[in-house]
Amino acid sequence: MMVTLSFDVEQDCPPFASTFKGLREGLPEVMDLLEEYGIRGTFLFTGRAAEAFPELARRAAKKHELGCHGLEHERFDRLTASEAGGRLRKALSILRRFGRVVSFRAPNFQFPDGYYPVLENLGILVDSTKARHKGWRGGVTPIGGLLEVPASMTSIVTRLPWRIQLRVHEKLEEPAVYIFHPWEFVRMPRSLRPDCWFGTGKPALSKLRHLIEYHVEKDATFLTLAEYLDVYQKLKRG
Ligand SMILES: [Zn+2]
Repeated sequence: MMVTLSFDVEQDCPPFASTFKGLREGLPEVMDLLEEYGIRGTFLFTGRAAEAFPELARRAAKKHELGCHGLEHERFDRLTASEAGGRLRKALSILRRFGRVVSFRAPNFQFPDGYYPVLENLGILVDSTKARHKGWRGGVTPIGGLLEVPASMTSIVTRLPWRIQLRVHEKLEEPAVYIFHPWEFVRMPRSLRPDCWFGTGKPALSKLRHLIEYHVEKDATFLTLAEYLDVYQKLKRG
């Protein structure tokens, strides 16, 4: 099974909070954990998160994959194509100071189909905005010159009790693309929406370790989104 661990690196549960506790306290521990197992994750940063935490963006680019999650977690479906292009150009000019960036996921899984050429023109090769929990049934699909690698599930699944989430992992289609956020690994206040705080903090980190061990035992191959693109292209060429 090919497995991708992807992380949308943003402010704490946007738009409900604007703090960066998840980057300060959660993300370094997550990177430590992946590196302990020799796994490269895909870290899709907003431009603003990379600006505020350049050392983490650098670490993502060097030891993992650095990708793009917008400039400041804007809703691209509320922008015109040219506004979207402007935001993305700015985000990528920040992110590419740290290394190569070819993967993208839109905030809130909202990106109009008509804007895909904008991504392509900016050198994005892989999109992971489409998601099964948002109704996408197409699997991995080329869209124009991009490869769509859909997300397998919403991020709250991996914070559920293990025996419950296990049923989801057992039925996954390849590649399994998991989504996490730095703020899930710090304790979030209960004044926020339940999906912002449920299961957050240290329990989330130990469940991530459990998930990694589950897939390691099953001999999974952990790939970044960009690495998955290489595998896909090789398979296509036969
Ligand atoms: Zn996000």
